[in-house]
Amino acid sequence: MDDIRNVVIMGSGCAGHTAALYTARANLKPLVLEGHEPGGQLSLTTLVENFPGFPDGIQGPELIANMRYQAERFGAEYKLAHVSNADLSGAPITLQVGHETVRTRTLIIASGASARWLGLPNEQALIGRGVSSCATCDGFFFSGKDIAVIGGGDSAMEEALFLTRFASKVSLIHRRDEFRASKIMLDRAQKHDKIDFITNTVVEDVLDPAKNEVTGLRLRDANNGKTWELPVSAMFLGIGHIPNARMFAGQLDMDQDGYLKTTNNVFTKVPGVYACGDVQDRRYRQAITAAGSGCMAALEVEKFLEEQGH
Ligand code: NAP
Repeated sequence: MDDIRNVVIMGSGCAGHTAALYTARANLKPLVLEGHEPGGQLSLTTLVENFPGFPDGIQGPELIANMRYQAERFGAEYKLAHVSNADLSGAPITLQVGHETVRTRTLIIASGASARWLGLPNEQALIGRGVSSCATCDGFFFSGKDIAVIGGGDSAMEEALFLTRFASKVSLIHRRDEFRASKIMLDRAQKHDKIDFITNTVVEDVLDPAKNEVTGLRLRDANNGKTWELPVSAMFLGIGHIPNARMFAGQLDMDQDGYLKTTNNVFTKVPGVYACGDVQDRRYRQAITAAGSGCMAALEVEKFLEEQGH
């Protein structure tokens, strides 16, 4: 029996679901390995206002659930598992998935990027005890409390705005006084009366692991080096993401930050292996661009398999 898959898709964010939809409709019976963070970044966000087709916006988790349902309707198979090892050197490609070895003619890497941490001495010990990278998941626990959000991009603005629903005050702490955030998001956050901006300020550590909860942050003024403590009950990080591509080191080309390098949008240097979405896109990183590149990867898979006579 031929147990070689036509296509395996790593990741179940926008890019993965779209690749699954297209390859399923092409009757390639894709297997989607959902990965560590099923649903990807959209499942951690709130209202998405810039995905075309939803004039009043749509909640991120609902959008991603719809995408999955749509792909499943055409026969995409989903498995809650992640790839621990991949060998791209031969045909078929072999993937280690738990105790199972999966063989496939083509691979679509749509493994996305995960939240970045600050790397503070006490940070890891306080994750789940007031340190969080997901406002949507954990904001509710800090109703009526003062909290901090770190970062100067759209993620930080979005988190800060979302957290005003619960918090009595949100301190937005950014290491510079210029922002990467889009003007509309920055304006909204700056105009919000519950959000205080603390700029040119670096977080030195989060307190207090001895109490097993966040009680404050030790901050340093980037201009004069002065340190001070800000009492808060939670620290939410909005400082960007790290691509989930480490397992391909030595097999695929990456840039200095570990994003997969692609040519013609989705081609890696290995024939039959394509990368799409945030794992290869450090520039746009939007739901719609991830979905678009998932579509491209799927069309290339179709073409590749056809050329190989499958
Ligand atoms: P980003 O734009 O790369 O911003 C990351 C922010 O974190 C920057 O302000 C950066 O500071 C700061 N930062 C990074 N490492 C840090 C560190 N070690 N210590 C302190 N600060 C640190 O990332 P993002 O906000 O996650 O956005 C990524 C993409 O997603 C963007 O294209 C964005 O437009 C998009 N996005 C869109 C929406 C929306 O439209 N609703 C929501 C979220 C994200 P520096 O500026 O000093 O480097």
